[in-house]
Amino acid sequence: MQDPGIEKLVEKAMSVHRNSYAPYSNVHVAAAVEADDGTVYTGVNVENASYGLTICAERAAVAAMVAAGRRRIARVAIVADTPEPLPPCGACRQVLAEFGDPETLVVSVSTKTGRRRSWRLGELLPYAFTASHIEENRGSDAAP
Ligand SMILES: [Zn+2]
Repeated sequence: MQDPGIEKLVEKAMSVHRNSYAPYSNVHVAAAVEADDGTVYTGVNVENASYGLTICAERAAVAAMVAAGRRRIARVAIVADTPEPLPPCGACRQVLAEFGDPETLVVSVSTKTGRRRSWRLGELLPYAFTASHIEENRGSDAAP
């Protein structure tokens, strides 16, 4: 049996999927991020004629969460109109790691085939680079 909370999160992502702006790749992606207090923030991919400026759905959702004052991710849902469920790209994995933890659940669903995959964030990004790696240097920018 599926976790009803995850199904609700997938539905939230589905609800904004049509708003994806992807005229270049034609790959439409939406994401829903559940914060630690249960609130859900959504995002879609926003492409640009200058391709490198494209923003992924996952990072758009995380930015909305942070703008609302939340700092911890509990779970993530991704939906895309690709035959296979899309995993988050490398940049998004790093951004998710900033606010999640290795056990954070990431579920991805294809809107075309209904195929589904899920991972723990620690599987997607083992040995994540985190604030702990730079802690000793923070706040000490004096010249050597
Ligand atoms: Zn991405």
